[in-house]
Amino acid sequence: MQRNKPPAKKFTSLPALYSPGVTPGVILSRRHVALWMLTLRLHPKEHHRIAAGHLWVYRDEIQELPEAPPGTIVQVESADGLPLGSGFYNPLSKITVRMLGETVEEADTDFFVRRFRQAVEFRQRFLPNEDAYRVVFGEADLLSGLIIDLYDTVAVVQMLSAGMDVRMPQILDALRIVMPDLTGIVERNSAQTRKKEGLPFRDGPVWGDVPSRVAFTENGIRLEVDLVGGQKTGYFLDQKLNRRVVANLSKDRTVLDCFCNVGGFALNAAYGGASQAVGVDSSQMAIDHARHHAEINGFDNCTFEQANVFDLLREHVEQERKWDIVVLDPPSFAKSRSAIRGAHAGYAELNRTAMKLLSPGGLLVTASCTQLVPKPDLMEIIYREAARLRKRLRLVHRGNQAPDHPVLLAMPETQYLKFLIFQEC
Ligand code: SAH
Repeated sequence: MQRNKPPAKKFTSLPALYSPGVTPGVILSRRHVALWMLTLRLHPKEHHRIAAGHLWVYRDEIQELPEAPPGTIVQVESADGLPLGSGFYNPLSKITVRMLGETVEEADTDFFVRRFRQAVEFRQRFLPNEDAYRVVFGEADLLSGLIIDLYDTVAVVQMLSAGMDVRMPQILDALRIVMPDLTGIVERNSAQTRKKEGLPFRDGPVWGDVPSRVAFTENGIRLEVDLVGGQKTGYFLDQKLNRRVVANLSKDRTVLDCFCNVGGFALNAAYGGASQAVGVDSSQMAIDHARHHAEINGFDNCTFEQANVFDLLREHVEQERKWDIVVLDPPSFAKSRSAIRGAHAGYAELNRTAMKLLSPGGLLVTASCTQLVPKPDLMEIIYREAARLRKRLRLVHRGNQAPDHPVLLAMPETQYLKFLIFQEC
């Protein structure tokens, strides 16, 4: 056995109270776990990305997988023993360690209180006076696998890693300490990514009172979300500031909002004085909800239609309809690398068809939340389609995900939303 390279399966320091087969963190007290935190060693040269601040350690980068239950905190070090910090271990997941951005012995309530305070303080500074925002955006808040959204006084939590899932009690306690005005907490734990972590699906209220609809405002518009039955965690908060841009451009214009969900861009356009705003979505539930939003805001310049956007755009082209503004905000087209080509084709078709509908000087408002299609690729697709149609476009606005969804520079995975406005000229 090499003296300076103990096999990863062994605990690193004096296992006087340790007997083989005892699972750290389960039988032993917290203090002892601190002493005997498991240590994982990476293969030679695999530490650079982690040392530079990336938070995911992949299975094939680790020398030997220790026997420890999903969620155990482990220390990670380079092949030659350089400590890289600690993280949540999950031998079932390809992302086998999710680093916590510092060396912590245990992620207890105090740990989450500290991290949540920082997260809330940041949001209050960058998005002051909002009653709905993303409180925690996973990796960008150094809390890999945890998403928390706030709607008025109700929080929605999503645990996408085993480390977070096993610490749900501490997370809920910490949230209530940091946000004493909370009246209810809902879990939305049915994201497909939970399967990759070996986690079951669970949805529903986990604390307090959760009304069937929670009311909040966005850019002056009253909204109500169904936090238990709605899509994602209730509402797409990442487009908040981009919707404001559309509101400001809509006065006396006709606006077609494709993939409108519960009304987002169409409602903002109506609020901004659009002569006509029409939202389209394939989900009847989303359309009913959007109509309700138009009604409670008293918008008579805003209607909604259930349809497949691809079909509807083709029909509008056949009918030679024109719009001053066409908004495209489709769902993600590629979750894995194998789907990237299809995603390119999808963006090409959507943007090409939308361009055909623009009135002279009209605006193409195009968004993409596909992380695997970065901005230069999207621009290239749109440029190619415009050139095919002999249309000249100029880029007049560039947006991103709202600041409550920050981007961790060391993790390009946290940058996903592109928002571009082109004008025909
Ligand atoms: N623009 C919205 C968010 C869009 S999310 C907002 O501002 O909140 C993507 C939406 O696309 C979902 O509501 C989904 O129901 C819808 N969708 C997915 N495929 C579709 C299709 N082919 N035609 C119409 N809507 C579709």
